[in-house]
Amino acid sequence: MDRRHLLKLAGIGALSGLGGRCAARSRPVTLSQPARRFARVDVAWDRVIRTVVGLRPFRPSGFVVRGEKLGPKTVIHNYGHGGAGITLSWGTAHLAVEEGAKTPASSAAVLGCGAVGLATARLLQRRGMEVTIYARDLPPRTTSNIAGGQWSPFSVADHDRETPQFQDQLARAARLAHRYYQDMVGPYYGVRWIENYVASSTPQRAAEYGGALADLYAASKALSPAEHPFDVPHVRRFTTMLIEPPVYLNAVLRDFLLQGGRSSCATSPTATRCSSCASQSFITARASGRGRSSATRS
Ligand SMILES: Cc1cc2nc3c(=O)[nH]c(=O)nc-3n(C[C@H](O)[C@H](O)[C@H](O)COP(=O)(O)OP(=O)(O)OC[C@H]3O[C@@H](n4cnc5c(N)ncnc54)[C@H](O)[C@@H]3O)c2cc1C
Repeated sequence: MDRRHLLKLAGIGALSGLGGRCAARSRPVTLSQPARRFARVDVAWDRVIRTVVGLRPFRPSGFVVRGEKLGPKTVIHNYGHGGAGITLSWGTAHLAVEEGAKTPASSAAVLGCGAVGLATARLLQRRGMEVTIYARDLPPRTTSNIAGGQWSPFSVADHDRETPQFQDQLARAARLAHRYYQDMVGPYYGVRWIENYVASSTPQRAAEYGGALADLYAASKALSPAEHPFDVPHVRRFTTMLIEPPVYLNAVLRDFLLQGGRSSCATSPTATRCSSCASQSFITARASGRGRSSATRS
């Protein structure tokens, strides 16, 4: 059944629903869901235009958000997001800014200008703070720029090293981030909803698709062979957001600057430099931890 035919049927269904007030009770129209057909992906070595390699700094026990006193100033650490720094950025930024709100500071410095630093800087601005970003590199020269950008809180910690406290922190950050990104769907931020298919020859564990966060993967379903065209027995479909890093990071940096934010190039900000800087509190929003490398080919 083609799309036009489906829409026609849906129209009949809608009309019969309206007319149902006068006529005898209308029969519900059931629309069947045919297997989706996909264009074959055109993959070939001679189509690769560039290979980039990036680290996904990772801590087995999970990312860290915590405050620390440094003389009269407060440093808030926010690092180690592994393979989900884009996904979690607004969530962990929210947690970091909550920590910062415990101080009376009215200005702040953010160290790092990737996904995490930018989200943090924007949330501080929304609280009316004066914000300066200090970073060695600005977009497009950050790791965040080469990420895949799928919204998915995966590869964040080693499951056997996660504490219940960390799991709660992860769940809170993921839910907050999911909510923030919903407001950014559209071409300006380069965020869109996208259907994903995971195909494998071995059974997939339900926990791999969100576990306690499963409700954040809309329409998640293990498909029967009749519902997919792939040549493997186990296929799951779910919907999540895709964030186009170059579009997204540019847009958030633009928002930050339009809102009066300042950025400054600085390499290796040290504790000493932090304490001599004019800002009253610091958020170290830059990747840190053991790297797990992964590559992207364009
Ligand atoms: C190939 C690949 C695919 C990925 N896919 C996804 C995905 O699909 N979804 C997802 O959520 N995540 C994904 N990730 C992970 C994600 O990219 C990272 O977790 C995220 O980009 C980390 O953001 P960040 O802001 O902490 O770090 P970065 O983007 O690395 O930014 C760090 C900032 O700190 C600055 N900085 C660093 N050191 C210093 C210093 N000493 N002095 C001054 N400034 C400094 C840098 O210049 C930069 O501005 C992927 C990663 C890779 C490599």
